[in-house]
Amino acid sequence: MAEKSYHVIIIGGGASGMAAAIAALQEMEKNKGGKNAGKVLLLESNDRVGKKILATGNGKCNFTHENISTAHYHTDDQAVLESVLNGFPTEAALHFFEELGMHSRTKNGYFYPLTETASTVLDVLRLRLAELGCETLCNIWIERIEKSGNGFFISFKEQEKRHRAYADSMILATGSRAGGFLQNKKEDPLRLAESLGLRSTPLYPALTKCICREEYYYRQLAGVRAQVRLSLYAERDVPSKTGWELLKQETGELQLTKEGISGIAVFQLSGKIAQKLADKKRVIVEINFLPDFPENELEEWIKKRLSLLPGRSLEEFFLGVIHKKVLNVCLQAEGLRGNMRVPCVNDSRNNLSAEKRAIIMIASVMKRAMHFTTEVTAVSDIRQAQVCRGGLILSQFDENLECKKIPGLFACGEVLNVDGECGGYNLHFAWASGVTAGREAIRKVL
Ligand SMILES: Cc1cc2nc3c(=O)[nH]c(=O)nc-3n(C[C@H](O)[C@H](O)[C@H](O)COP(=O)(O)OP(=O)(O)OC[C@H]3O[C@@H](n4cnc5c(N)ncnc54)[C@H](O)[C@@H]3O)c2cc1C
Repeated sequence: MAEKSYHVIIIGGGASGMAAAIAALQEMEKNKGGKNAGKVLLLESNDRVGKKILATGNGKCNFTHENISTAHYHTDDQAVLESVLNGFPTEAALHFFEELGMHSRTKNGYFYPLTETASTVLDVLRLRLAELGCETLCNIWIERIEKSGNGFFISFKEQEKRHRAYADSMILATGSRAGGFLQNKKEDPLRLAESLGLRSTPLYPALTKCICREEYYYRQLAGVRAQVRLSLYAERDVPSKTGWELLKQETGELQLTKEGISGIAVFQLSGKIAQKLADKKRVIVEINFLPDFPENELEEWIKKRLSLLPGRSLEEFFLGVIHKKVLNVCLQAEGLRGNMRVPCVNDSRNNLSAEKRAIIMIASVMKRAMHFTTEVTAVSDIRQAQVCRGGLILSQFDENLECKKIPGLFACGEVLNVDGECGGYNLHFAWASGVTAGREAIRKVL
């Protein structure tokens, strides 16, 4: 059985593992003043490294954001996260990729490669790994990691070939199941960490779509895209306090599917929704399809429009204000039909003046469109989610991402209990934590 010795072995060839390998080898070059001074082994269970990167940003890879701060992340240890992000702000991510030869462009604060192609990101990472002499093995199955003195022994199979190797430092960069990119279905990103005695939180899908109870409406609404404001409510945690608690609001794009709600605004809420559902709490999302419409000016607006557009049916009255499909379900919810005539303001056969009746009718539809409530019954499977909420408890690691109780063991990327919002935050954390862990793993050896 072949046995080799390395400065650092990195397990997981995703975004964070590759960043860690590059940082480790560059740090070694800087300190030892020569090329190929460091010996780094990158182990990947898939047939190639970085598969997930190719799917990011709809194939364009939104690799960082101009506003990186802890406010955009969820974790159990704000201090460690803050230290990692402060040590690797947006400029550091841009500089890291500039040095690999990749230029970038920004859209509303979201950074993409200049080519707007995710494969560029993977290509420049792989090229630099090769230039730095990183040894990479794919299609491997790690059988065991053992702590031995100041280092680690690792036993693994590459196809049918058995290997045993020694490393001074070890980095866990095994990511998560999100996206469904693990080729070996038996693989579990937390398996090795847990075999070393590390603790993890429960896992939930995050940045993903939600399935809603009102199937009948969603069959009609499928395909609609709209800029909306969403308010997330859940049943209160404290049993004595009944009612609903507002947890979070989000403004942004909503996409309606035949099963429920999706789109960036929903993604941002989905981690919290998944947690609440797992806690057996009911969850409601209120959709405001008219987020810029001032509700306190509703009556005035209706009166103006009634005088401008007299004699219209309800469907004709709302033309240009509410999306047709959304209008239809709002009308149904109010017990109205699109071909009903809006009461004519000159017609006063009833006790209530026609104008009053028209205002009540129209206001009820407008209010329904502003407070369209839907009950979320499930979030989609982790393999359809962009990230996983939860992972290795971050407080087990210090600010260099070294495990407090196992010196020489580091972790980076999504395997840790850190997840970010949509907008480049997750990949940014992969680079930031990968560079931190890789650099510190080598400093430890030096
Ligand atoms: C569809 C989709 C779109 C996304 N878009 C964006 C975006 O535009 N912007 C953004 O910031 N984020 C995006 N993300 C999230 C982002 O891609 C991830 O957060 C990031 O790639 C995590 O990198 P990682 O290296 O920590 O983990 P991963 O990418 O999961 O990599 C871990 C690697 O470790 C390997 N591995 C696991 N266990 C073992 C083992 N025991 N032995 C050896 N190898 C192992 C896996 O095969 C994998 O290659 C997206 C995710 C998805 C799924």
